[in-house]
Amino acid sequence: MDTAQAEAPAQAIEDVARPGSDRAAAIRALRTRLSLLGDTGEGALERAEHLVGLAERFGSHPFTPLEQARRLLGVDRAAFAATLDLFGRIPELATAVQRAPEGKYWTNTILPLERTGALDAVVHGRPAFPYSVGLYPGPTCMFRCHFCVRVTGARYDASVLDEGNAMFASVIDEVPDTQPSTVYFSGGLEPLTNPGLGELAARGGRRGLDMTLYTNAFALTDRTLERQPGLWSLHAIRTSLYGLNDTEYEATTTKPRAFRRVKENLGSFMAERAARQAPLRLGLNYIVLPGRADRLMDLVDFVAELNEHSPGRPLDFVTVREDYSGRDDGRLAADERTQLRDALRDFTAYAAERTPALNIDLGYALESLRAGVDAELLRITPQTMRGAAHPQVAVQVDLLGDVYLYRESGFPELEGARRYIAGRVTPTRSLHDVVREFVERNPHIEPRPGDEYFLDGFDQVVTARLNQLEQDIADGWAAHRGLLGTGGTA
Ligand code: SF4
Repeated sequence: MDTAQAEAPAQAIEDVARPGSDRAAAIRALRTRLSLLGDTGEGALERAEHLVGLAERFGSHPFTPLEQARRLLGVDRAAFAATLDLFGRIPELATAVQRAPEGKYWTNTILPLERTGALDAVVHGRPAFPYSVGLYPGPTCMFRCHFCVRVTGARYDASVLDEGNAMFASVIDEVPDTQPSTVYFSGGLEPLTNPGLGELAARGGRRGLDMTLYTNAFALTDRTLERQPGLWSLHAIRTSLYGLNDTEYEATTTKPRAFRRVKENLGSFMAERAARQAPLRLGLNYIVLPGRADRLMDLVDFVAELNEHSPGRPLDFVTVREDYSGRDDGRLAADERTQLRDALRDFTAYAAERTPALNIDLGYALESLRAGVDAELLRITPQTMRGAAHPQVAVQVDLLGDVYLYRESGFPELEGARRYIAGRVTPTRSLHDVVREFVERNPHIEPRPGDEYFLDGFDQVVTARLNQLEQDIADGWAAHRGLLGTGGTA
C-alpha cells in the first residue's frame, strides 16, 4: 500500500461532516479503525454510524447538549458512553467536526478558549485573570453610525483622561506574562479620540503584548502618528469600513466626505509602514449591509488601490460580516441568500486574483453560506443569558475604570448597561481584584428584554458554550462535556 492509499481512509473520516462527502467510505474507514482498537464485536457497523452521526451533529450544531445528541442517535446511556469514548480515541473525528460547515465556531473560538482553561474557570466558579480584556479609551466619537447603540451626545469629559489613562496603564501592567494577546483597544467610543493612546500602546509594546486597535481610522492621520509614535508598537490595527464612497459613508456615519479622508489615511499609513518596515498588521472590517452584496467586488478594488501605496507590503486582512440587525429572526430571504452566496464566491475568487496576499475571514455565518449551507444563527435571549456573565473569559474597561461584562454595553449613559458593570478599577483595586470579588460574590443579574443586544458575536458564542457545558455536567456527562476540548480531543 502506498502512502496515498494509507492516508485515504483517514481523509474520508476527516471530511465526513462536509457537504457532499463520501459517507460510506468514512464508515468503512471507521470500521477498520474500530477493529484496530479491538472493537470487532456485534454492532460495530452501528457504532461507526453513530460516530459519523456525532461528527455531523456537532459540526453543524456545535452547541448541542450531549443528552440531546444521545436522544437523536436513539441509544441508551451505556451505549452512548461507549461511543463517546471511541470518539475521543479517533482524532480524525475531532478534525471532521472542525472541517464541517460550522467548524469555525470550534477553530476560531471554542477550542482556543478551552485550551486556556477560562471556560472551566467560569463553570467551576474560580476567579481568573480574564482571557480577553478590551480597553475602551475613547472619550467621544466623530461619527454617528445608524446601527451604533451609543447615546447621541453622551461622552466622557476630557477632565477624566489623565486619571483614566493612568488606570489603563495599571491594567496593562497587571496582565500576566503568559497572556500576551489578552488586551485590545476598542469601544465604546472611538479610541483614537484619546490623545494618550500612543503612550498606552508603547507601554504594552515594551511588555511584549500583542495589542490590536479597533478604529474607524478617521483620526489615523500623519499628524496623529507624529504626535503618538507609540501607535507603531501595536500588533495590529483593524479599521471598520463603513462604505466604499463618500455617499455610502455619509449614509452610515452621517459624516460628509469621511470616506476620502479614511482612504487617504490608510494609504499614507501603509506607505509609512513600508518605509519604517514596521511589523504592525493592518486590516479592514467590512459589514455587508442589506442589498449591498455586489459592493464586495469594489472592496477588492479598494484594497488593490491601497496596496499601490506600498507595493511590497500589501494590506494584511479583511473580515467580512453580514448585518442581520434589522431582521427579527436573523434570517435572510431565500433570494437574498442566493445573491449573497454568489457575491461571496465572486468576491473570494476576484480577491485571490487581484489581491493574492489578502487574508479573508468571512466569520461563522458567511463562511457557511459560501459553502452552500444554511447556517444556524446563534441567538442568545434574555432566557439564556447567564446571571453572572463570564468575566474570567472577557471584560471591557472604560475610561472611568468601570468593568463591563459584555462588549456592547460599555457606552456612557446607555440605558440598562450599568447593571452589567462588575466593579471599578481604582488605584487601590486592580482588575484582578474586581473580577475576583465579582466571581466570589456570584451575583445574579436578572436579564431584561433587549439586554441580549449587549452581547456581541463573541459573547454569544461564549454564553452558548458555557450553557452547553453546564447542561452536560448536570446530565452526568462531565467527563465528555462539550464533546471536544476535554482530555486530548481538541
Ligand atoms: S459604530 Fe463606532 S464609529 Fe460608528 S458611531 Fe459608534 S463608536 Fe462611532
